[in-house]
Amino acid sequence: MSRELREKGTINRRQFVVGTVVTIASTGAWSVLADSHEAPKVSEDDPAAAGLKYVHDATKADAALRQGDHFCNNCQLYSGKQDDEWGPCGIFPGKVVSSKGWCTAWAAKAAS
Ligand code: SF4
Repeated sequence: MSRELREKGTINRRQFVVGTVVTIASTGAWSVLADSHEAPKVSEDDPAAAGLKYVHDATKADAALRQGDHFCNNCQLYSGKQDDEWGPCGIFPGKVVSSKGWCTAWAAKAAS
């Protein structure tokens, strides 16, 4: 998508996916889709995970892409508890991600 189109108010695919997931997550609807105690862990080899460069250990992510303080457990899309090892993520319905993981869809939590 060209810069010109973005400036005219269109959004790119990543913005659409993240925006949609944030909306779902903020409604609480996501919580019924994955229970962190029963849901399978997302695989780093899962095509969707690989496409977002998801890693279980954020410290192993490409340093050029990730800021040092970005982890799943401080991402807007993570709905697990801060101290849980694994928790649901709106990007991966029905699965859980590592609380110390990261992917390129990381989004800052909305101010409360
Ligand atoms: Fe999900 Fe956010 Fe972790 Fe990416 S960084 S896997 S969007 S919780």
